[in-house]
Amino acid sequence: MKKKHALEIQKILNKLFPNPEIPLKHQDAYTLLIAVLLSAQCTDERVNKVTPELFAKASTPQEMLTLTIAEIAQIIHPCGLKNTKAKAIWNLSKILVDKHKGKVPASFGALEKLPGVGHKTASVVMSQAFKKPAFPVDTHIHRCAKRWGLSGGKNVEQTEADLKRLFPKTSWNKLHLQIIYFARKYCPARGHDPEKCPICSIYSA
Ligand code: SF4
Repeated sequence: MKKKHALEIQKILNKLFPNPEIPLKHQDAYTLLIAVLLSAQCTDERVNKVTPELFAKASTPQEMLTLTIAEIAQIIHPCGLKNTKAKAIWNLSKILVDKHKGKVPASFGALEKLPGVGHKTASVVMSQAFKKPAFPVDTHIHRCAKRWGLSGGKNVEQTEADLKRLFPKTSWNKLHLQIIYFARKYCPARGHDPEKCPICSIYSA
């Protein structure tokens, strides 16, 4: 039953968001990694306003190391947590240069060892930069999965496992973006309108 609902929801999402774009501006795996790191507790719009200045000065790990942590912090301050994020950006760039020949590794294990990079950030990079199947679950996806009855997960890890069981692996990367776009437009944390909503109505139909 859950699988049937999941596939019905997928059909609706495919109609509403047939070609969801990656919301964070980037040029390659490194600039995507930095943009995702900056997006923690910050909106994508704000990150996209900040990264052009940062990437004009440093768009590779080698170039990032020519900046000081204070200089990085000064550029990224609108994203919040400027000192923590600047330190993570500088330190991860150093590790990429020292241990990965200046490249972003296409592996969950290696990515998750980088400072400031957790499972969700690693999943976004694996999915969007390297096109490997991954299902990054943020608060939007966690909320929707619960409201749609697809997961009773108490945390994002459990929700990720449930969604991976319900949806075909080939659709994970696209669904991750589609659910985020849906959640932002129709299914906010507060004030959702079931009458106008194209998804929950299928449960009462
Ligand atoms: S009715 Fe729509 S907006 Fe409300 S929980 Fe369901 S999907 Fe989300």
